[in-house]
Amino acid sequence: MRTWIGSVLSHARLRDDLRRFVSFGGQRVLIHEILSLQLLITAVIGSLAIAGLYWGGQWVLQKNYSRWAMQWTEELHELGAPLYLPYTDEVTLRLESYINKYPEIERVSYFRQDGSRLLFVSNRTNTPSRGEVESLSADILAKTAALVGTDTPYIIESSLLNIQQFEIFAPIWTASIANDGLFDFDPFAEQPEAAMELIGFVRLELNFAEYHQNLLNNIKVAILVLLVLLAASGFLGRMSLRRALRAISDLQKPIAELAKGNLAVEFKPAAHREISEIVQALETTATALGERDARLLRLANHDPLTGLFNRRRFSEELDRELRSASRTRARGALFFVDLDQFKYINDTCGHPAGDRLIKKVADRLTRSVGDDGIVARFGGDEFAILAPGVNKREATEMAEVILEDMRQLSHVEDETVFHVHCSVGMTMIKGGEATHDDLIAQADIACREAKARGRNRAEFYKVSRREADQMAADVGWMRKLREAIDSDAFILRYQPVVDIVSGETSHHEVLVRLRMDDGHIIGPDMFLPAAIRFGLMAEIDAWMVDHAIQAYAHYSQDEPDLRFAINLSSSAFETENLSSYVVACLEKHRVRPDRFMFEITENLAVRHLSHVEKQIAALRELGCEVALDDFGKGYSSLGYLQQLSVDYIKIDGSFIRNLVKNPVDQKMVRLIAEIGREAGMKTVAEYVQSAPAFSMLAELGVDYAQGFYVGKPAAVPRRRTLPVLLATKRRRLRLAEEAG
Ligand code: GH3
Ligand code: MG
Repeated sequence: MRTWIGSVLSHARLRDDLRRFVSFGGQRVLIHEILSLQLLITAVIGSLAIAGLYWGGQWVLQKNYSRWAMQWTEELHELGAPLYLPYTDEVTLRLESYINKYPEIERVSYFRQDGSRLLFVSNRTNTPSRGEVESLSADILAKTAALVGTDTPYIIESSLLNIQQFEIFAPIWTASIANDGLFDFDPFAEQPEAAMELIGFVRLELNFAEYHQNLLNNIKVAILVLLVLLAASGFLGRMSLRRALRAISDLQKPIAELAKGNLAVEFKPAAHREISEIVQALETTATALGERDARLLRLANHDPLTGLFNRRRFSEELDRELRSASRTRARGALFFVDLDQFKYINDTCGHPAGDRLIKKVADRLTRSVGDDGIVARFGGDEFAILAPGVNKREATEMAEVILEDMRQLSHVEDETVFHVHCSVGMTMIKGGEATHDDLIAQADIACREAKARGRNRAEFYKVSRREADQMAADVGWMRKLREAIDSDAFILRYQPVVDIVSGETSHHEVLVRLRMDDGHIIGPDMFLPAAIRFGLMAEIDAWMVDHAIQAYAHYSQDEPDLRFAINLSSSAFETENLSSYVVACLEKHRVRPDRFMFEITENLAVRHLSHVEKQIAALRELGCEVALDDFGKGYSSLGYLQQLSVDYIKIDGSFIRNLVKNPVDQKMVRLIAEIGREAGMKTVAEYVQSAPAFSMLAELGVDYAQGFYVGKPAAVPRRRTLPVLLATKRRRLRLAEEAG
């Protein structure tokens, strides 16, 4: 048992040793593995060859025994016959000289007819005696005597214990012809049978030990040669394998480089076809990756419509310029260019026409600036230009060139000639504290100033105390809002809107709030203006839509009758894919579209009429409803109502706040409610803060109410029913009468 365990253990150890040999630093090494296999095969073949040699030698020997036995017995028969005549010394001598020729014959003994020994001749004096045999055994005697005159007149006796030693027994006889017929010899007559007379026996003791020894010696030499061959083949095999595999090892370094992202890595041309194909495949991969990187880089850095740098890349360039300006105290100027009344071409000829004009403007701006600066498109009709190394006077001249070139630009679309002007805001770059965001904001503010002063002109950014504070605040807000978008720091609140007649909650308006670093929550009035100024509204809108729908999916599990109204800014309506984004969010959260209403401010709807019309139609086609928010504020809205097919009109809060005391507001609200009813739209009153206002709205014919009286924005949307007021009951009766 113990030895068995020991042998298993030593096997395991052997396996470990082997594994350690073929591995290098814990990993398997190809060369060692192939080499081990090669040596193993060579060793097995060599051992088989040696075993074959040994057994083959034995086999040949045994084959020859019988032939030699025949020859020896015949010759010894001849030589020994005279022994049975009167003894002669000469015979002994002849026998001795005969057997001296055969080293394998140890001793020859002659026996008389009765089996007693007559004489023996040893080959070597020091031949060890195998036990003196004085006479043959009766058994041998009988068997051998029977062989007289046969074709194989001998028997071979061998010992199982010692295969190298044999004994051959043969009879010795005389043959005499009865009548030798010497005188009347007739060659054609049948010859008479010879008379055979047994006269004795001969025994040969053979020993092939010397042959075996020679064979073993030869095999030893063969093993030695085999070992030398193994060592040589191991050494040469290792060398040639190394050489063959060097091509693969040579690939290791460039592949590691490639993995690190170095696409310019060079591969050595390979001599072997297989490696050459791998090298080719790797080179093709590197090229393809390089091309893809270039494409991605282009996408990341360039505006797809004009091919100019985008905002991201421009900011990087500006950063670089700022760093070098702070080192070298060099100056430079930053321009913000916004086209004047660009929406006009979009509205009259469509977006593709607007796009064509934007491309033309991009070309013209690039030519106007030439080598003096870098032009980028920030989106929409906004461009930015960085002119390094210019002073204030040169910057003013550049702005004049830009304005003049733009005045010269005309664009034909649908047989209408469009002239497009632009407003330019400028700010000087000094190596100070300002970041690229600060500088862009400064140029943007200056551009707004140029718009305010009548458009088609350029203005420098002037820092008044108030403006500086505003700007610092804006820049702070921008950072905070970016973080909020990235880290989901916005939160949602839900304010109920009730049906005035039934008192039941119709839906909830979803409102956005921002959690500040110190934990307190602020309303949209505080941060939305900055978000609009810095173009972050599109992202906030997208966040709102996605999260409101997600929240709906959550809360509607308990309250299946919930419906949500979501506010959208102008940015949401400017994107082409608003409805497909909504669909994607609905599908993502597995919610029905008819549970949602989107609110758009009247102001925005009117300013982008044709575009917004299409977006509203697309949303309604999905099954969502659309509400026109802040209705009655500012624009001459009534005329537009006919063009916008919305489901709800939300009367601006300014009409409701003093409704109970102000007869003009009452008239206005009644008028809007009537027009809504005529147009098939429901009316909603915001800012409903008291029971009298609520009951008055019922009398004025408004359908829904929202405000602190109805319900404050809450963290969780709950449906509730308001007590039905007297005025409401009256109205319900009236409606029933009208219907009846
Ligand atoms: P202002 O003189 O005040 O600049 O008026 P504007 O009409 O140029 O309006 P504003 O600059 O505020 O808005 C630019 C418009 O450009 C808004 C949007 O409809 C449109 N727009 C934004 N991106 C694209 C675009 O990629 N292609 C086209 N064709 N129009 C775009
Ligand atoms: Mg513009």
